[in-house]
Amino acid sequence: MTKYIFVTGGVTSSLGKGIISASLAKLLQARGYSVTIQKFDPYINIDPGTLNPYEHGECYVTEDGAETDLDLGHYERFLNVPTSQANNVTTGRIYQNVINKERQGEYLGKTVQVVPHITDEIKRNMRLLGETGLYDIVITELGGTVGDIESLPFIEAVRQFKWEEGAHNAIVIHLTLIPYLAAAGELKTKPTQHSVKALLEYGIQPDILVCRSERSISLDIRKKIALFCNVNVNAVVESIDASTIYDVPLLMMKEQLDKTVLSKLKLAQKNEPDMEKWKDFLGRLKNPTSEIKIGLIGKYVELPDAYKSIIESFIHAGAKNECKVKVEYIHSEGIYPDNAGEKLAHLDGVLVAPGFGSRGIEGKIDTIKYVREKNVPFFGICLGMQCAVIEFGRNVLNLQGANTTEIEEGSTHPVINMMEDQKNITAKGGTMRLGSYACDLKKGTKAYAAYGKTHITERHRHRYEFNNAYLKQYEDAGMIASGINPESNLVEIVELKNHPFFVGGQFHPELKSTVANPHPLFVKFVAAAMEFAKKKTK
Ligand code: GLN
Repeated sequence: MTKYIFVTGGVTSSLGKGIISASLAKLLQARGYSVTIQKFDPYINIDPGTLNPYEHGECYVTEDGAETDLDLGHYERFLNVPTSQANNVTTGRIYQNVINKERQGEYLGKTVQVVPHITDEIKRNMRLLGETGLYDIVITELGGTVGDIESLPFIEAVRQFKWEEGAHNAIVIHLTLIPYLAAAGELKTKPTQHSVKALLEYGIQPDILVCRSERSISLDIRKKIALFCNVNVNAVVESIDASTIYDVPLLMMKEQLDKTVLSKLKLAQKNEPDMEKWKDFLGRLKNPTSEIKIGLIGKYVELPDAYKSIIESFIHAGAKNECKVKVEYIHSEGIYPDNAGEKLAHLDGVLVAPGFGSRGIEGKIDTIKYVREKNVPFFGICLGMQCAVIEFGRNVLNLQGANTTEIEEGSTHPVINMMEDQKNITAKGGTMRLGSYACDLKKGTKAYAAYGKTHITERHRHRYEFNNAYLKQYEDAGMIASGINPESNLVEIVELKNHPFFVGGQFHPELKSTVANPHPLFVKFVAAAMEFAKKKTK
């Protein structure tokens, strides 16, 4: 029988519910339990695919092509187990399902209401992954903060769920903040007391409190919180600010969060968590023997969450290479042919980011011209790869006005073209080429050297592709298609023959990098940048 853990948040947003959920899941997994995490988001969009990254950070794409919340990226990076459409549900999806059922006549004769119809649909979705029989434990993270109007139906659903399943089958972990008031020189528990009170008003007694704080929480304060919030002292867990999110599982292990959870759920403790590989990763992460500077050229650089998975991939690849990767965000809008050198010369490698629309695209192309000519290691992802194709077309093949039809529909040289099956699509939500597709690699290429095999799969999120009418010209001039989709012939990877590292992928490798499996292209790119840095100092 599957056991359920709900993770709610109080006091303020951004306390790190996603990381706490992923850390707890990691510890339970490391004890031998099969665990998955799902996220319920209270907004009305059906999924975050239509949200601007400035609004909600990166959109994370799963194997099965769901556009999801970036917390699913943390789940995968920590657990090394893929998530799916079922792992992310929004208010929009819940209402869509209920309204569809209403039209089908499923509620014939009844007034359709938030309680019970919306809450029933929420509970049905909360149980979906558990019902697959694949998991001992399902952790459900609730987006938003307790007390928000929009999260109320989810909180009510949790109350009902807990009551239906029984105290030992469903528990609630509430994440709160214990702020430190410098003027008073004290940690303050009142906001936590208030947010637990808010939960109690909705009929939920949290089982465990995880208290985020910048200072260590003394036993006296824990006792006080326990007394006012009706929990055991050992169920008051400190979550102190960490230097890296990858420390959090070990910090939670020290606080025995996993043990407390298992005893509340009446599950066997099994073995102590086997975190040896994780510790090995942390050891390499924290003791680098060299350092490189990578420029991340994009247009959402003001909000690093927009490139979350790329940043984390660099952390994994850096640890693998025992190298500290410093990522510098550079706005592509400010780069022109005459200042590219000034902006980029100090870098050991350049990654041109994914993106949509025309803003900043010329700066990306100018950046690529510079790194191509100066032999600076280059990695282009999705739009970044497309820009590399445009740059090569314009400056090497002399295809005047080469462009992507995303920017210029009537381009004289549409080297990047809308995919055939996208041409009749007008709706914007969930209609891109999404999720996992196969790719065959050519032997003797950098891509093959990275992966060490010929058949791979990678995740996608795009509408445009390399225009195969130009392929021969490109290959003759030295830009080769080293990865091709075997069914559609779509160019998945381009690379330059005569360059130390110049690789562009139409897919998103960053979505598959995990602590256990750093992505091979990131690993090789970092290694190439290390090599470049070494030569530079010589
Ligand atoms: N805008 C481009 C396309 O749709 C690239 C998308 C991306 O970078 N994810 O093809």
